Amino acid sequence: MSLSFSLEGKAALVTGANTGIGQAIAVALAKAGADVALAGRSEPAETIALIEATGRRCVNIKADLSSIEPVGRVVDEAVAGLGKIDILVNNAGIIRRDDLLQFSESDWDAVMDTNLKTLFFLSQAAARGMVERGAGKIVNIASLLTFQGGIRVPSYAAAKSGVGGVTKAMANELAARGVQVNAIAPGYIATNNTAALQGDETRNRQILERIPTGRWGRPEDIAGAAVFLASPASDYVTGQVLAVDGGWLAR
Ligand code: NAP
Repeated sequence: MSLSFSLEGKAALVTGANTGIGQAIAVALAKAGADVALAGRSEPAETIALIEATGRRCVNIKADLSSIEPVGRVVDEAVAGLGKIDILVNNAGIIRRDDLLQFSESDWDAVMDTNLKTLFFLSQAAARGMVERGAGKIVNIASLLTFQGGIRVPSYAAAKSGVGGVTKAMANELAARGVQVNAIAPGYIATNNTAALQGDETRNRQILERIPTGRWGRPEDIAGAAVFLASPASDYVTGQVLAVDGGWLAR
């Protein structure tokens, strides 16, 4: 039986870690013992400082993940910097809001490309090394809209539902090769992604009324689940979407 939450000696790659949930996860993985590579389009100076303060190494990879063009280079640079990728956290994501009847093709494609297509092809590229070593962990950031339809966010609901499907598809093919693939579905977390909702008095009140815990989540609320799914403690867990939502889905 393995019951270890330690990530000592592990190397992680986290996308979109300059802020929000990605930052909280990257720092938590470092606190649990992992060296961490960050891939994103914005400078993650604060995250690098927080990781280095834990005594772990941090590698910064500049990449715009709105297309799969940089995927091979991101994996190569992470491996060059840290020697391997044991843990991949696919966190980078965007949301576009508009009424259904006028929702544009560009808002459809942008969300599907960043949130689903890049997630799959980056996972594929990172999984090759994991399969060679017979071990690895992929953690995808899904959403409550992996389970629900939401309002005015059809491409986001489609992409995040797709994240649930592709998590299970990858889990099935990689399980016998020693690689576990799971997802976390964060509830309503106070980040840039939800700034518009937090600022909308009516939606903010409706959201809070439905969360049994009675508050918005904080990025740090996601960190424990991420460390668990990245660690040996979850070696027999694969193909799951774990909601971390203050009880929202239980209502
Ligand atoms: P956030 O603060 O907006 O963070 C999103 C991250 O993704 C940022 O680092 C962002 O970089 C990065 N990103 C977006 N497009 C990118 C691109 N083309 N190339 C590289 N990086 C890109 O929001 P968050 O709430 O922490 O979101 C993190 C993940 O959690 C997303 O997948 C989101 O869908 C998911 N999620 C959030 C909530 C919530 O309530 N907040 C709930 C469920 C799921 P920039 O700073 O450069 O834009």
